[in-house]
Amino acid sequence: MTRIFGKPLISQQEINRRIKDLGRRISEDYQDRDVVMIGVLKGAFAFFADLVRAIQVPVELDFLVVSSYQGSSKSTGRVKVISDLTVDIKGQDVIVVEDIVDSGLTLSFLKKKLLMRHPNSLRVCALLDKPERRTINVPIEYVGFTVPNKYVVGYGLDYQNRYRNLPYIAVLDQDGEQE
Ligand code: 5GP
Repeated sequence: MTRIFGKPLISQQEINRRIKDLGRRISEDYQDRDVVMIGVLKGAFAFFADLVRAIQVPVELDFLVVSSYQGSSKSTGRVKVISDLTVDIKGQDVIVVEDIVDSGLTLSFLKKKLLMRHPNSLRVCALLDKPERRTINVPIEYVGFTVPNKYVVGYGLDYQNRYRNLPYIAVLDQDGEQE
């Protein structure tokens, strides 16, 4: 039996189309270079898997596991690295792949941490950008979609570790149920 998860904010088709565009742009920008793509888990797992397959230059992959929300829909502002990189990024061209940039605290923390390892370059690709909530200015070179100030789930994004497997992006209402 199929469970219905409400009306998507961003459909599967829109996501697929946008990822193709991003993959094309990244392939053009990095055509003479190898690139290290770093997926920030868990939220970026679905986006990362689809994005890297849309890129046509050689890529090396690695992952960081971070936790900033600890299962709730409100930011605690605390970022914890649960699992670090296994590759050395010194002198490498690196792209950090995030699910969503909200306050910007997680990304800003990660960028500082990665820059201390002296990559040749460091850019950011985020599936979703929620600019209304930003408390710290952090540039994002590649953005999938700009979203309103609502808590979104699906396509990797969770609410209390659920909904990550939705193939589209949906909005949660204030009670934690989908609209
Ligand atoms: P920031 O540090 O920018 O406030 O938050 C970044 C992290 O918080 C994201 O990587 C994501 O895990 C989580 N987050 C922020 N906004 C949302 C949202 O609307 N939905 C979900 N599921 N997670 C979010």
